[in-house]
Amino acid sequence: MGLPAYKNEPYLDWSDEKNVEAMRGALKKVGDDLGREYPLIVGGERVETDGEIPSVNPANPSQVVGHVGRATEREADMALETATSAFESWSRTEPEARARILLRAAATMQRRKLEMLAWEVYESGKPWAEADAQVAEAIDFLEYYAREMLRLKDGKDVYSVAGEENEYFYQPMGVGVVIAPWNFPTAILTGMSSAAIVTGNTVVLKPSEHTSVTGAKVTAILEEAGLPEGVLNFLPGYGSEIGDYLVSDARTRFISFTGSMKTGLRINELAAKQQEGQRWIKRVIVETGGKDALVVDDSADLDAAAEDLVKSAYGYAGQKCSAASRAILHQDIYDEVLQKVVEKTRALNVGVPNNPEVFMGPVQNEPQFEKVANYIEVGDEEAERVLGENPGDGGQGYFVKPTIYSEVDSEARIAREEIFGPVLSVLKARDFDEALKIANDTPYGLTGGVYSRNRDHLEQARTEFKAGNVYFNRGITGALVGVQPFGGYGLSGTDSKAGGPDYLPLHMLPRTVVERF
Ligand code: NAP
Repeated sequence: MGLPAYKNEPYLDWSDEKNVEAMRGALKKVGDDLGREYPLIVGGERVETDGEIPSVNPANPSQVVGHVGRATEREADMALETATSAFESWSRTEPEARARILLRAAATMQRRKLEMLAWEVYESGKPWAEADAQVAEAIDFLEYYAREMLRLKDGKDVYSVAGEENEYFYQPMGVGVVIAPWNFPTAILTGMSSAAIVTGNTVVLKPSEHTSVTGAKVTAILEEAGLPEGVLNFLPGYGSEIGDYLVSDARTRFISFTGSMKTGLRINELAAKQQEGQRWIKRVIVETGGKDALVVDDSADLDAAAEDLVKSAYGYAGQKCSAASRAILHQDIYDEVLQKVVEKTRALNVGVPNNPEVFMGPVQNEPQFEKVANYIEVGDEEAERVLGENPGDGGQGYFVKPTIYSEVDSEARIAREEIFGPVLSVLKARDFDEALKIANDTPYGLTGGVYSRNRDHLEQARTEFKAGNVYFNRGITGALVGVQPFGGYGLSGTDSKAGGPDYLPLHMLPRTVVERF
């Protein structure tokens, strides 16, 4: 296939008034479209359910973004059955044809970009730049995985021996259950689903209960791009009601999950148990949380370090799995960096994301708001709060002010547990060895970073920093598809490296076929 070389989707320039005006138009248009109903889609049919899930705007919880179907085990059974029969023909569809559907979906998403951004603003409370990065990443996943499938479609070279032909190639696996989180409802949901689909599998897609409208929008784009009925089945519902059923069912061949460690471990455990009639060991791709650290040593450019710390800690209100939630500072520069971080954080524009200047909006949902508020109480007992306010009751929006704790002990809960909100714990280290030791003293291993001008320190961290994605002298969020494959190890996940060259093979069965002549 003659395709242009892969390149990342560029971000919108919000200093251009034309873009700002166009975005205001999209917000108005989507605003007029709020409150609609989004049923399940199984085998191309719209399926009504007895119950529904309301999705609300986190910046204004009384505003309903949409009413989404609420699947029960009955509909989950239907979706698994449909996906099982659709697998027969989809798995035989040529890889080129499958890839073209992703490319077409990418083109549609590009055309509808501002509308997709607007849904993110309403349903996720994302600031414009964050929403833009989300949709750009989703487009990247579609473009990148289409090309990856073309690269892998004929398998890989192996050596041969005289008189034989030795082949090594990949085949689709079966029905994949894709379970998505709420924090990247366009990008991660698109990435996980499209990878499973382009490799010839069929999918039962369960979006997060908090962002199912965005999931419905992505599903519509993939449908419009020409996916045959039954290949992607949209199954919104509560994880607590249908999650175990989907994961345990004998028809499920693999599970692709992104979310919390707790749910990920449960999925791993349930998937391991063989069910009646099950003829395979389920494959589990699980990407979970983090307690990510940015280390600043005494040789670093302190202004740049403070700037990137603030962006990494508070971008999307700290609700990125890659967010910096621990700053580990060398004792000699501790006070200076802390002061710079406090100043820069105080200057952040926090509010309802209705213009491009807003840097940080609300946290995404009520349980998350309560969880963060609870950690602020814990933090007040454990360390010194140098910035932040007590959150209100959330009734006017789930807003939490950027919060900083200093003099945090490495054993403190706010230094060890994933808060997933705008709360930064600042820790002190005697030297670089101790800083790295503190950074690594966590069961997680997702992202991490070092700010330093010391070559020895960087080389040491290159091998010793225990995280799937390690960044030097920059922020630790915003991995680019195809450039910075993303995923963690330890209890942060199976290190699947989404957006990288090893990702698609996780969704396929490698086969070796040998013919002797
Ligand atoms: P979550 O509570 O674990 O939920 C994730 C998904 O799992 C949701 O769709 C949820 O459904 C579903 N679920 C809940 N219980 C289930 C069960 N028993 N069986 C199957 N599925 C079930 O996580 P979250 O709060 O949405 O996401 C935040 C977490 O994701 C954070 O820990 C963050 O670090 C992590 N994350 C990791 C990455 C990465 O790449 N490593 C990326 C993004 C986010 P409901 O919505 O109905 O509960």
